[in-house]
Amino acid sequence: MLDFQRDYWETRLRFPDWYSRLEDELTSLFFPVVHDDPRLKAFRNQVYALIAELLARRELPLAAAGPDLDTARQPVDTVVIHHTEEDAAISLDRLSAIGLVRQYAFQYLADNVLGHRVRGQPIWSNHFREGQMVFFAYHWLIRSDGTAERLLEDSYIGWHAGDWQINTRSAGIALSGNYEAAIPPLPQIESAARVIHSYYPHVSRNSIVGHREVRKDLTCPGAYFLETWKDVLVNSV
Ligand SMILES: [Zn+2]
Repeated sequence: MLDFQRDYWETRLRFPDWYSRLEDELTSLFFPVVHDDPRLKAFRNQVYALIAELLARRELPLAAAGPDLDTARQPVDTVVIHHTEEDAAISLDRLSAIGLVRQYAFQYLADNVLGHRVRGQPIWSNHFREGQMVFFAYHWLIRSDGTAERLLEDSYIGWHAGDWQINTRSAGIALSGNYEAAIPPLPQIESAARVIHSYYPHVSRNSIVGHREVRKDLTCPGAYFLETWKDVLVNSV
């Protein structure tokens, strides 16, 4: 199954309900959380690259209109820190393609986007960046060199925490890279702190948390967050 057949995927991705036509593959190969499986990750990346390419060429059908999915947005009182667990230099197109699959296709297959019955319909995120529909889970992406990239406006609810109540009132900040078993470079940690200082100054220190503190079953943003670099980050805000 891990032999990437571009034609197979591309043919299906051109239908508005592409996720239904690829349900078996998405369910078995894309939705499970895996950490140490380079073959599977390489396969996923071939699919994500194709999806990013089709999105860029506007050849993957998306909804032309849809409901306002951000009506439950609350003032931001929480910041959730993530890592992408992807290549640190990942393109934003690729990151959006990953969100399209892992967050949006997942909800459309479950036939439930905030109570809307959606299965079979083309996907709608309600989120736009530079005139294009985007599927980012996070509000910010912080690069290893400290560059901060705005992904979602703060008026948008990011689907990042795996907890809807927290999503409605939080900003998601992702450090680009895989920090499962490594500590992020200091400029990256300090940049995340600067973003919090500049954009979310009213968030209390106790409300700056790692994804793993919201969802105890996950390891994001990595093994060293709680004991090593969380304090560095919080003390730099
Ligand atoms: Zn996370």
